[in-house]
Amino acid sequence: MKVFVTGGAGYIGSVCTEELLDAGHEVTVFDNLTEGHRSAVDPRAKFVEGCLRDAGLVKQSLRDAQADAIMHFAASALVGESMTDPKKYFHNNLVNALKLADAAVECGVKKFVFSSTCATYGPPDRVPMTEDLPQRPINPYGEAKLMFEKVLIWYAQIYKLEFIAFRYFNAAGASNKFGEHHRIETHLIPNVLFVAQGRKPQCEIFGTDYPTPDGTCIRDYIHVKDLAQAHMLGLVPGKTGFYNLGNGDGYSVREVISMCEKVTGQKIPVVEKPRRPGDPPRLVAAADKAIRDLGWQPKYPKLEDIVATAWAWHQKHPAGYAD
Ligand code: UDP
Repeated sequence: MKVFVTGGAGYIGSVCTEELLDAGHEVTVFDNLTEGHRSAVDPRAKFVEGCLRDAGLVKQSLRDAQADAIMHFAASALVGESMTDPKKYFHNNLVNALKLADAAVECGVKKFVFSSTCATYGPPDRVPMTEDLPQRPINPYGEAKLMFEKVLIWYAQIYKLEFIAFRYFNAAGASNKFGEHHRIETHLIPNVLFVAQGRKPQCEIFGTDYPTPDGTCIRDYIHVKDLAQAHMLGLVPGKTGFYNLGNGDGYSVREVISMCEKVTGQKIPVVEKPRRPGDPPRLVAAADKAIRDLGWQPKYPKLEDIVATAWAWHQKHPAGYAD
């Protein structure tokens, strides 16, 4: 297939682009490089530097790519930032996504694969979380993604734009070539590994008074290559709807830090800080639907493997893509 990948210079988009190319698909990456990196774009892909705000360029690029499918990764993705700068989230993650969906309809694209998030649920009534739980986001990041999910439902019904939306839990790990490099890093695993690399003196724990066994937040970490695999399965015609992607295992912040100590062989000094606004205490996926309907089978479900691949990538790229 010919696949148009927005955000293909970013973390998850770069790994998905690599997997698509390995599987023989043709890929056009569309990215404005504000968060992404030019050297994270697989050299086998065609690259268009542009912003989704520019509806004309989006349409032209889709036509040039003769795209059968869109994978839409380009987005702002920081829960904490969305609490202080909500307009960035509603513009980038809702308004710009809408422009892309309009272009998809106009250009006759058959499939829209959307990077959604478990943040659309807010604090869940129960874990592991199935797709039918109520969605009550507690931050603008989750809200904007949820609003766009609703756009997709109506566009599918009325314009027949087939979609699949993956609600990611916590993406982590790396492929051999591509890994996680944000210009401002707020995610837990890379920040802990920065301490092991000597790039940071200590790791901060945001909140130690949550209603969890050790008082820190629990998340479900999923390997970026397993996410990519699900996206490939999502391209199959007729597959549609919402799917959680996670491993069904929850790890607390302290458990993640211990695992990073084990993998790196280094002691990680920590400092306890207040809660970070917008963080639900516990998010753990039930991904049975993706396993059942799509035949998805995560290959790297163990936290140790996830951390080990991230560590290998950071060691190979001590300054990320700035090398
Ligand atoms: N966290 C932390 N210290 C850090 C970064 C994150 O304690 O330096 C916590 C954060 O508050 C959350 C969990 O780790 O409870 C996962 O955060 P991350 O930003 O990696 O992903 P999110 O769940 O926000 O998408």
